[in-house]
Amino acid sequence: MVADGLPDVIGLSGLPDAVTICEVGPRDGLQNESTVVATEVKREFIERLVDAGLRRVETTSFVPAAWIPQLADAEQLLASLPRRPGVRYPVLVPNARGLARALDAGVEDIAVFASATETFAQRNLNRSVAQSLEMFAPVVHDARAAGLGVRGYLSMCFGDPWEGPVPVQQVADVAASLMALGCTELSLGDTIGVATPGQVFAVLAAVQAKGMSIDAVAVHFHDTYGQALSNTLAALQAGVRVVDASAGGLGGCPYAESATGNLATEDLIWQLTGLGIETGVDLDRLVATSVWMAEQLGRPSPSRVVRALGAPS
Ligand code: MG
Repeated sequence: MVADGLPDVIGLSGLPDAVTICEVGPRDGLQNESTVVATEVKREFIERLVDAGLRRVETTSFVPAAWIPQLADAEQLLASLPRRPGVRYPVLVPNARGLARALDAGVEDIAVFASATETFAQRNLNRSVAQSLEMFAPVVHDARAAGLGVRGYLSMCFGDPWEGPVPVQQVADVAASLMALGCTELSLGDTIGVATPGQVFAVLAAVQAKGMSIDAVAVHFHDTYGQALSNTLAALQAGVRVVDASAGGLGGCPYAESATGNLATEDLIWQLTGLGIETGVDLDRLVATSVWMAEQLGRPSPSRVVRALGAPS
């Protein structure tokens, strides 16, 4: 480490020149925090993330308020955000009602969320995998017809707390069905954070063998077992260029007991910066944002980089 709080830069062959970070803190992070954060605090959080250089900030979710009280202010939050050139504020949408609300709010990108396993589909969506895809089909179709980008999230791609190991071919099959609905991007989720790098290569190879372009694939790793950055590096070596991360490591998954911790954006930036990979993010500003957000939540950030750089000196 050098004096200005950044790693030395030494590249590694076979990696992309630039990576797009899909910042999920305001949605995936805050949805899984027990504290309900005020709309004004969320707005400031998102504005600070954009000021730090993040260009895709998943903002909220148009699910019924009873499902996720933490995100019940979706309309007010989106209305409070200044639109800036090149900045996208994707939102989650579960059904036709959610899409109608998202369109009314003027969103440009939505995401639907499916599961690679039957148990999690039942627990998260109260439907089988096939039934959930049927539910999403008209949503994806109508969103695309309205000119929106549609991300398809796929949960439990690397292990399921109830079913155990998830066959690679099963993940690839559900991923292909999800993309066949018309999604423009696939985000493969390690919802309980159990993946290891060889498994990442195997799942990405299986997905590509089903005809999907690696250019349309993103990865969403959790750091439960300390593997998120290793898995990210494996995904980059396999050609992935979109990585999901949550500022300060906010959030986990309330339905998966052992799941703690999205990959922290700061930890990701440290690695990418050291590898000479462009992200467009100012790490100091991002760390300051996560330190501030941790104060709002009343507990320290779990991010190693936030702790290393953000501690009062
Ligand atoms: Mg997550």
